[in-house]
Amino acid sequence: MIFNVISIFPEMFDCITKSGITKRAFINNLCCLKINNPRDFAFDPHKKVDDKLFGGGSGMVMKVEPLELAIKQAVLEQSELGVRKSLRIYLSPQGERLDHKIVGRLLLEDGIILACGRYEGVDERFIERNIDLELSVGDFVVSGGELPAMMLIDSILRHIPGVLGDISSAHNDSFVNGLLDYPTYTVPRDYQGAKVPEVLLSGNHKQIKLWRLQMSLWRTYMRRPEMLQSRKLTKVESGLLDEMIYNNSK
Ligand code: SAM
Repeated sequence: MIFNVISIFPEMFDCITKSGITKRAFINNLCCLKINNPRDFAFDPHKKVDDKLFGGGSGMVMKVEPLELAIKQAVLEQSELGVRKSLRIYLSPQGERLDHKIVGRLLLEDGIILACGRYEGVDERFIERNIDLELSVGDFVVSGGELPAMMLIDSILRHIPGVLGDISSAHNDSFVNGLLDYPTYTVPRDYQGAKVPEVLLSGNHKQIKLWRLQMSLWRTYMRRPEMLQSRKLTKVESGLLDEMIYNNSK
């Protein structure tokens, strides 16, 4: 997987390339990340990448030309690395909401380019001329596309074999099988009277598996009931959920 990011704050990406699980992906060459800075394509003496809004209004908008030249360079770099068609994404609060399904679709791409806006956003013509897909990380606004871009990259990298120590931990994550994850515990067994559920200490792996499934179903039912509408439950799953509903109605 090859990522290029269009950003005027390249140093922000040290967060994912220099720490944590994502660092492993870069060190082991399981993916590659290049930054294309629009400032390198701003040819006035002050390397200005933004200007006032036509029509008036507060704030500044990123200019089309430096962004467009930066994304063209990114496409060229990816094609030199063998990417036939780069997917060009603009991170935007107005985009399609990022979720597990979209991450799964993006995993099939060889090359992704992520354009990060700043200020009041980008000149609309940049989007019209250069962007395939707009993605949002939620119905709120942050100051730039860099954090959303890093969230997106991280969510993709977790599914690339070799990035997580144990890929099966990603298989148990929330949303993967259409459910939220079950509650997890570690030592001590008793923390100031708060105890780890007995079944997890029993050594009975069949019972543990069933308990975890039941907790996943119950959490999803309580917190994200709409997820259960788009997921057909098996007989066992329905039984486990009904049992929880019954026990909690008493
Ligand atoms: N005025 C814009 C609007 O209301 O749609 C928001 C501009 S925001 C301050 C600056 C940049 O942050 C955007 O161009 C976008 O790249 C990024 N951004 C902000 N919120 C985002 C979100 N929820 N998802 C993805 N990107 C976001």
